[in-house]
Amino acid sequence: MSSGTECYFDVIVVGAGFGGLYALHKFRQQGLSVRVFEAAPEVGGTWYFNRYPGARCDVESLDYCYSFSDELQQEWTWTEKYATQAEILHYIKWVADKLDLRPGITFNARVISAVLDEDTMRWAVTTDNGETVVARFVVMATGPLSSALTPDIPGLETFGGKIYHTAHWPHEGVDFTSKRVGVIGTGSSGVQSIPIIAEQAAQLVVFQRTPNYSVPAGNRPLTAEEITHAKATYDTRRRMSWRSGGGSPHVAHPKLTMEATPEERRAAFEERWQLGGVLFSKTFADQMIDIEANEEARKFYEGKIRAVIDDPEVAELLIPRDHPIGTKRICTDTNYFQTFNRPNVTLVSVRKTPIESIDSAGVATTSAHYDLDAIVLATGFDAMTGTLAKIDIVGRNGQKLSDDWVDGPRTFLGLGVDGFPNLFLVSGPGAPAVLANMVLHAEAHVQWISDAIAHLDQHGYAAIEATSDAVENWIAECNQRADATLFPRANSWYVGANVPGKPRVFMLFIGGFATYLDICAEVANAGYKGFNLLKAL
Ligand code: FAD
Ligand code: NAP
Repeated sequence: MSSGTECYFDVIVVGAGFGGLYALHKFRQQGLSVRVFEAAPEVGGTWYFNRYPGARCDVESLDYCYSFSDELQQEWTWTEKYATQAEILHYIKWVADKLDLRPGITFNARVISAVLDEDTMRWAVTTDNGETVVARFVVMATGPLSSALTPDIPGLETFGGKIYHTAHWPHEGVDFTSKRVGVIGTGSSGVQSIPIIAEQAAQLVVFQRTPNYSVPAGNRPLTAEEITHAKATYDTRRRMSWRSGGGSPHVAHPKLTMEATPEERRAAFEERWQLGGVLFSKTFADQMIDIEANEEARKFYEGKIRAVIDDPEVAELLIPRDHPIGTKRICTDTNYFQTFNRPNVTLVSVRKTPIESIDSAGVATTSAHYDLDAIVLATGFDAMTGTLAKIDIVGRNGQKLSDDWVDGPRTFLGLGVDGFPNLFLVSGPGAPAVLANMVLHAEAHVQWISDAIAHLDQHGYAAIEATSDAVENWIAECNQRADATLFPRANSWYVGANVPGKPRVFMLFIGGFATYLDICAEVANAGYKGFNLLKAL
């Protein structure tokens, strides 16, 4: 929509991943004028960029997809329990085409600033192409895991071979055949890619700083019967997911860990082990609260892992001891630990012998030099806040979001920010975000924002702004809830520990997906309690 010479929209959405695409569809359906800016040349977000070998979802495909349209979920057919990156990207492109979303998106356009005009309550959004558009609302669907971290290792730039980051993988793929490859990092990205790189490479050296818990995915093709059944019962599956702690249709064992008999405990852990992956941390409801309960899960885990690693010394290095199980996201793997039984794979604990430098020939630790042809950085992200920090977001009185957040992110519900009226975040800090199935989470946020805008329009309000009290209380509540769990015991990216100098703050709402949704609904039903609704000047 145009007003005068400047381009004007009701809503500017930044990002065309799962969150931004649904926002475009939803707001458009609502009759709003919407423009999406996307830095990449294509839709997909996470699934456009993270093309490393072995990249897959760790929430089951049947759940990790849009629920808002039964037509979509009936028409699309997933082929595997955990879909590959390629299949997920294919799905997202298919949705974008089916809903005719592309005309609403400007690709190759990175938003560099968003500046509020307090007199008009309009945001001026500028891209790196020099375009500025004006809108009533800005929705940042920029992703919690969209700013890759490159470690500051001396000499990295002098390496004579190829360097790849898992989050910026070449689209043409990489052939490691007959190459000597080093992988730095053993989080989810490293754990998924290492087994496949090992199959190709002549030699693979894995540089592990902190061992991680990883549970086998148990991935497999979905059978025709499973697909038919899932499609026929999607309503129930989704209902259970919306009422769950993490956005998947699985419920914890009815007893607390230590109330169960040893046999019941073992059977419950075994059942979750067979389910596969990250949900192992939700076997019992108290597993992430009570260290004794957690230790039971850890012991079961340790037994499983030791059984598949040939060399006890290697097992010793691979089994985590520094944090309770589940306090960092459990990785979901296929043959990760077995990979270290291969003769062409070497595990180097850089906790014991730190990386000192990288030179033209390879990686030097305090005890050895490893000659390499290629280095894979599986070193993660400046999560939750890193991408927003790159945008010059200026609110009331010239306040910059990055200054306001210098001691940690400040939001109410992970949706609104005090001092930044009509700016919404999708899956921002202060929400469950990455602790939940992120597709449903994005849907919930977009739905809430859509309802809020409709409420403003129906009642003649120009703007909505989180109050500072609500933000302070929410931060306190998020901290209290986190402190009541075992999560703060880990040096995870949830607390920003992976980024040197980042304030250590637990950046997520940990009280569970359904509880969070209830709180968001209560706020809305109470006339957006905790937000100021402002009439036009
Ligand atoms: P993203 O997909 O990150 O999209 C954000 C978009 O915003 C990007 O396209 C980016 O280019 C764009 N953008 C950012 N800044 C700007 C700017 N300034 N201007 C213009 N555009 C901008 N979650 C799960 O729940 N289950 C999983 O199985 C799962 N697997 C994952 C696997 C990997 C490898 C990774 C990295 C993450 C995974 N996640 C998973 C989390 C995942 O990020 C979310 O599930 C989801 O894809 C996020 O969608 P989004 O739209 O919020 O953000
Ligand atoms: P990550 O979990 O942050 O892991 C990064 C790894 O790099 C860690 O092992 C870290 O060690 C290591 N590292 C970082 N800097 C290093 C350095 N200078 N020297 C040595 N090691 C270094 O990142 P990620 O693996 O990309 O995963 C991030 C998140 O994305 C996941 O938790 C998950 O939410 C999502 N994800 C999901 C999947 C999936 O299975 N669907 C796959 C990939 C990603 P330390 O632990 O010691 O810091």
